[in-house]
Amino acid sequence: MDCLFCAIIKGDIPSGKVYEDEYCYAFMDINPQAPKHCLIVPKLHIASADEITEENSVYVSKIFEAVPKVAKLLDLSDGYRIISNVGEHGCQSVKHLHFHILGGKKLSENMG
Ligand code: AMP
Ligand code: ZN
Repeated sequence: MDCLFCAIIKGDIPSGKVYEDEYCYAFMDINPQAPKHCLIVPKLHIASADEITEENSVYVSKIFEAVPKVAKLLDLSDGYRIISNVGEHGCQSVKHLHFHILGGKKLSENMG
């Protein structure tokens, strides 16, 4: 399967790694939308949040256990935003589930 984020997890494509454990991999976004912009992805290929099931949801809960660790590593003690785009209307461009973590300044109140 040809998946950019699977290739990044494998190390076939370089990335600015922030954090890694058995279940997830976090790295800096190549095109940051905030002063600090990181992506957290499951090490299992899940196409989007719309593909989360009882069988794979442990990867999602492990990602959210990693979120505070990643936020600490990025020094986001003033807060941050987590976003996951899904499908065409969500403007998802990479079809491997990922959570954007954005921070480093006060973000816009507008999310839509
Ligand atoms: P989305 O549009 O929600 O699917 O988000 C995909 C994100 O992946 C975008 O914010 C891109 O900037 C980011 N991205 C694409 N290629 C890379 C890469 N090679 N390394 C890091 N981030 C990337
Ligand atoms: Zn993948």
